[in-house]
Amino acid sequence: MATIFTKIIRGEIPCFKIAENETHIAFLDINPIAEGHTLVVPKKEIDYVFDLPDDLLGETMVFAKKVAEAIDKSLKPLRTGVIVEGLEVPHAHIHMVPIYHERQNVSLRNKVEVSRGKMEEIAKQISAEVSL
Ligand code: AMP
Repeated sequence: MATIFTKIIRGEIPCFKIAENETHIAFLDINPIAEGHTLVVPKKEIDYVFDLPDDLLGETMVFAKKVAEAIDKSLKPLRTGVIVEGLEVPHAHIHMVPIYHERQNVSLRNKVEVSRGKMEEIAKQISAEVSL
């Protein structure tokens, strides 16, 4: 059965899209841990990130770098951090987490409330700065 991320890639489920090319997509995490929390997902459906072939893993990191640059420009966090966990969705992905202050709790269990309107606004802000 297709993963929820494959359904997003196919356009069967909506997302707050940030960027897409032939091999990767980035969209806002629906239960963010910070405003602008974004997922970078290779379109190829492979569960464990370290099972990605080396070339695809490299491309995923380069795509993630471009998304991080766009987050940094648009939202101006101190840095954009990266988390890889993959315990919930069996489709490799990288969490891109804007870090706005040094004491921010950067944990996937530290969800924050972000309204739908704000998610739309943030997605527009970040995607306007993406240069693939
Ligand atoms: P994990 O697999 O533990 O790295 O976490 C999966 C992440 O995917 C969680 O942070 C979820 O909030 C996120 N997620 C699950 N479904 C969706 C969806 N439909 N759109 C965006 N993010 C999602």
